Amino acid sequence: MPSYETIEHDVLVIGAGGAGLRAAVAASSAGVRVGLVCKSLLGKAHTVMAEGGIAASLANVDERDGWRVHFADTMRGGQYVNNWRMAELHAKEAPDRVRELEAWGALFDRTADGRILQRNFGGHKYPRLAHVGDRTGLEMIRTLQDHSIHLGIDVHMECTVLRLLTDGGRIAGALGYDRERGRFRVYRSKAIILATGGIGRAYSITSNSWEYTGDGQALAYDAGAALQDMEFVQFHPTGMIWPPSVRGILVTEGVRGEGGVLRNNQGRRFMFDDIPENYRAQTADNEEEGWRYTQGDRDARRPPELLTRDHVARCIRREVAEGRGSPHGGVFLDISWIKQRLPNAREHIIRKLPSMYHQFKQLADIDITTTPMEVGPTTHYIMGGIRVDGDSQMSTVPGLFAAGECAAGLHGANRLGGNSLSDLLVFGKRAGEFAAQFAREPGSPAIDPAEVDGAIRDALEPFERPPAAGGDGPYQVQQDLQTMMQELVGIVRTGPEMERALEGLERLKERARRVGVPGNREYNPGWHTALDLGNLLTVSEAVTRAAIERRESRGGHFRDDCPEKDPAYGKFNIVVRKGADRRMELVREPIAEMPGELRRVIEEQK
Ligand SMILES: Cc1cc2nc3c(=O)[nH]c(=O)nc-3n(C[C@H](O)[C@H](O)[C@H](O)COP(=O)(O)OP(=O)(O)OC[C@H]3O[C@@H](n4cnc5c(N)ncnc54)[C@H](O)[C@@H]3O)c2cc1C
Repeated sequence: MPSYETIEHDVLVIGAGGAGLRAAVAASSAGVRVGLVCKSLLGKAHTVMAEGGIAASLANVDERDGWRVHFADTMRGGQYVNNWRMAELHAKEAPDRVRELEAWGALFDRTADGRILQRNFGGHKYPRLAHVGDRTGLEMIRTLQDHSIHLGIDVHMECTVLRLLTDGGRIAGALGYDRERGRFRVYRSKAIILATGGIGRAYSITSNSWEYTGDGQALAYDAGAALQDMEFVQFHPTGMIWPPSVRGILVTEGVRGEGGVLRNNQGRRFMFDDIPENYRAQTADNEEEGWRYTQGDRDARRPPELLTRDHVARCIRREVAEGRGSPHGGVFLDISWIKQRLPNAREHIIRKLPSMYHQFKQLADIDITTTPMEVGPTTHYIMGGIRVDGDSQMSTVPGLFAAGECAAGLHGANRLGGNSLSDLLVFGKRAGEFAAQFAREPGSPAIDPAEVDGAIRDALEPFERPPAAGGDGPYQVQQDLQTMMQELVGIVRTGPEMERALEGLERLKERARRVGVPGNREYNPGWHTALDLGNLLTVSEAVTRAAIERRESRGGHFRDDCPEKDPAYGKFNIVVRKGADRRMELVREPIAEMPGELRRVIEEQK
């Protein structure tokens, strides 16, 4: 059995995106020893890709904004199955978290009088997104990274965590391996914070990078934690679709926030054709009003292109399915038209959307200041994840915390753009503080060496089965899983298709068990992919089972065979756990009653 190094911290943070870094800063500031592990290089997390901005009701651009409006917008967007306590804390604390980031050195775009500028985004009533052009995530990561390095946090880069270790049901540590040399490490830790991001790589068309294989969700599930709302996957309406090599890459909602419009192949702005009843009063009923809104007219209502992502994605899919799509199977997103309205449109677009300009110029040879983009839905985000306590972010396993995209609750059935970056800051901080507090409590959990040996043996098994023995390679299994999830558990679902997906998952699990890899442990991408497969299969099964259980359509979950929202399904969350027989179990957990004060806020904002 290969040997392993043992490293000890009070709190171990797994994941160095916005949530992990903010959590590490909070835990370290509370005076405990903190370790931070990440799969890639520090600074390369998903958060760095975030474009549009951070939602916080700073009210710098419109003084009518405030936590009440942000809370009500988040709950409406999430179709009221959100954890209302998290939505309340998020709306109240996000402004302070953004100002704190500024105090630590983040340079946001400014208003004329020098305050943080805020932009419009889908589902937000007022301009609310603090941003840095369309490179907000980069600024956020840069700032948090600087700050955490100065606090003396131990960073373990290019290390993948494979297993959480428990002692009598509470967290005791984690097993990982360094990707470069394939050596194993045991991290002893009294508390662990998972901040591992999303699951986008379970689908073939996605805006997510290679790292997002649902590791945190699967690690937590295997350690006995509950997952919640896994059926709610967000398909962002605007991903690139052409050329094929760039399919899925995100086109920020900021394009629509700056006045970009969606048209079908007949030139029609089809979003005006289908405005949901619960958004009608807030939505412009003509193009002129929509334009005025994007230019900051306080009396105008938002254009229908800025309705919630689930709705816009389905409208695009409908246009394509009914033969009104663009040549490569999407629709047209046009920002170039604003030259009819603004004398300096070209400079304006390049200044406001520099990454989009370069992305299309370099990857698709399209100049977005003169030519419409072709776009279509792309798997972007998962609202579901690890079930946590709203205040502390502790999961159902003592000592195991989760924050950011891998945690569930805040966004309910659909996330509003910009609410992820603020989620990372608000709940990263809380997770760090509560984990530090937990780690200070008496007791010192022990790690069972037999458990470690067993996990190492499992990790090395793919080398026992060289491909010549007839098994599949890991890439083939991963690709077949992605294609199946895209086709059968994608943007529009039906019960029979998802039942077929469950059968397909059983076959894929069997193939994954037989996957073999050649070579040795030193930087071996085939081995890394083989190890990711188990996580992808776990989260895919959780998404599929929960989606079968939810026999209605709500937010990111749309079923062609149950197209209406059913109020009975608004009363509970679907929770998934590992049963005693190691099979996945589903339960319906009632949503706690919302306090009268919060109910009144929602009524007031209708
Ligand atoms: C292109 C794009 C644009 C976006 N724009 C916006 C936006 O403008 N506003 C907004 O609010 N949201 C946006 N989002 C969503 C938002 O960026 C993400 O939801 C958010 O950054 C997730 O942050 P996180 O800290 O939870 O995880 P991530 O930033 O995803 O970081 C996860 C970390 O976990 C590590 N990790 C994963 N598995 C393991 C493992 N097994 N062992 C060790 N480490 C592991 C990774 O290496 C990484 O360090 C965007 C997303 C994309 C893809």
